[in-house]
Amino acid sequence: MSTANDKVKPTDAPPDTHKVSNFLRQIIESDLTQGTYAQRKWAGSPGDASHHAKGTTDPAKIRTRFPPEPNGYLHVGHAKSICLNFGLARDYGGVCHMRFDDTNPEKEDTEYVNSILDAVKWLGFNWDAHGTTHLYQASDYFDFMYRAAEFLIQAGLAYVDEQSADDMRANRGDFNTPGKDSPFRSRSREENLNRFREMRDGKLGDGAAVLRAKIDMASPNINLRDPAIYRIRRATHHNTGDTWCIYPMYTFAHPIEDALEQITHSICTLEFEDQRPFYDWLLTRLSESHTQADGTPLPALLASPNPKQYEFARLNLTYVITSKRKLAQLVTEHKVSGWDDPRMPTIVGLRRRGYTPESLQLFAERIGVTKSDSWIDYSTLEGCLRDDLDPKAARAMAVLDPLALTISNWDELMGAGTLDPCHAPVHPHHPELGQRHFQFGKSLWIERSDYEDNPPKGFFRLFPGNKVRLKYGYVIECTGANKDANGKVTEVLAQLIPDTKSGTPGSDSVKVKGVMTWVSQADAVSAEVRLYDRLFTQAHPDAGGKDFLASFNADSLKVMTAFVEPSLAHSAADAKFQFERQGYFVADRTDHTANKLVFNRCTGLKDTWSK
Ligand code: ATP
Ligand code: MG
Repeated sequence: MSTANDKVKPTDAPPDTHKVSNFLRQIIESDLTQGTYAQRKWAGSPGDASHHAKGTTDPAKIRTRFPPEPNGYLHVGHAKSICLNFGLARDYGGVCHMRFDDTNPEKEDTEYVNSILDAVKWLGFNWDAHGTTHLYQASDYFDFMYRAAEFLIQAGLAYVDEQSADDMRANRGDFNTPGKDSPFRSRSREENLNRFREMRDGKLGDGAAVLRAKIDMASPNINLRDPAIYRIRRATHHNTGDTWCIYPMYTFAHPIEDALEQITHSICTLEFEDQRPFYDWLLTRLSESHTQADGTPLPALLASPNPKQYEFARLNLTYVITSKRKLAQLVTEHKVSGWDDPRMPTIVGLRRRGYTPESLQLFAERIGVTKSDSWIDYSTLEGCLRDDLDPKAARAMAVLDPLALTISNWDELMGAGTLDPCHAPVHPHHPELGQRHFQFGKSLWIERSDYEDNPPKGFFRLFPGNKVRLKYGYVIECTGANKDANGKVTEVLAQLIPDTKSGTPGSDSVKVKGVMTWVSQADAVSAEVRLYDRLFTQAHPDAGGKDFLASFNADSLKVMTAFVEPSLAHSAADAKFQFERQGYFVADRTDHTANKLVFNRCTGLKDTWSK
């Protein structure tokens, strides 16, 4: 059976362009044809214009990046972004940078860093290419960002604003009203530079001033009405400690990070579309030369051509929450057992649920990328898992809700205590994987729902007088059932029909409508089976600002004490199986041991989600 990673192409592999096209692929293909980035240089590490000028022509045809904030565990939405960014780089002879966007000092935690790296690697990607490890953290660029801020001040393109937060908000105007210039907007470049240095040196209190780009207070795009680019915030940063008491705003930091890393295609979600004009404004200003107030030249800081930002629709999945903050709430309020609870849409949760890297890559391919928001049906995700597991998961029989079945004529036909060996293929389409072995006997376990006293119409399994085949075993005829004082069935009784053993000549001479799975009381192994349901009862749990906890499905985990066939006794944690008639199951990565078998249902055999 193939393992998780052996199908995934390395980043250095030759271009692979026969994938379903999308607008991003078209943009990249057109850039490659036109040689938009062909002259770009790369000096082996991120840096400014003079650094890259010393480099050679970039061996990477394109550069993309995956830039998570290390403030939580990654989820299925991030998986889409990872597959997209790393996948495009792989397919077009490029490189994808793994970058921690850790410019916000308050929210980050080193705890999340390793989980994020693990998730990306597990999905089948890596950031090593051309002998370089492209693993970066944005906070390493703080010095440069500061320099870029002074550069803008010296070019007359930024000013220190000391209006109160309320005044600043009021003077920004709104969609219908142009903004008003701040009284601080006309400060001299020299005054701005001194004041900004005082901000840096801790002479001003938190929130007392911000550095703003000087663009246009009347711009129809509110994001261009002199956006703040640096703020004062006394907070200890996980990487830079207390070195800084001023921090760049995300909208200022992100384009600079891209430019220092020579990113060509900076792919983000649609909510950043309105920020694109500022992204372009900033990088254009920083990559051209200016003149200072006294006439001294200011040579360009950043290399050209600039990275370009492209937006795609984020993944919205029905019955699923994809917000790190809300997922964190489920964990801290103990609604789930942790970030890796198999019901969680986190990558660690999906993995524990039995999702494979291939199934998530397939999912990313199938949903594609578009420029308009929509909802993807949860069944699409499950369909990808089924399609991935079906050809590779070993088959097994399991009885999840066991009911005893006694073959009343066994002793007479076969001899008391006799067990009859049966076998079945590990996989119906892969004979090379061999056979599973188990015993037929007098006492078996069947699924409780496979017996009815009074069968409803269309019920072909066990009821008095009916014949069924026990798969890989014999045809039996039900003769009745024993019950306890409450009328609950405790044992089903049946007679074995001789000469009907599967695979023996003439075994199909007795025609039956039903085929049932079973295990033998003699060799079945006890196992805990965990059945999961959707975590929310509403398709759009947090749409329109709804309280998502209101539709939390408290009944989303059912634990069964099951019996499984003996071939599963030595199964390894994380191994995936198809339990015949039941669905796909995975041996729980955390709790499954040789002494206690624990299986999680990954998904059913059929789609039960879509209407
Ligand atoms: P969250 O709101 O869950 O915290 P985020 O967007 O703030 O998500 P980041 O760590 O900033 O999380 O995201 C890293 C990358 O993953 C970004 O480029 C972002 O666009 C992408 N991403 C996050 N959520 C989704 C999603 N639902 N679909 C597609 N891409 C996503
Ligand atoms: Mg974010």
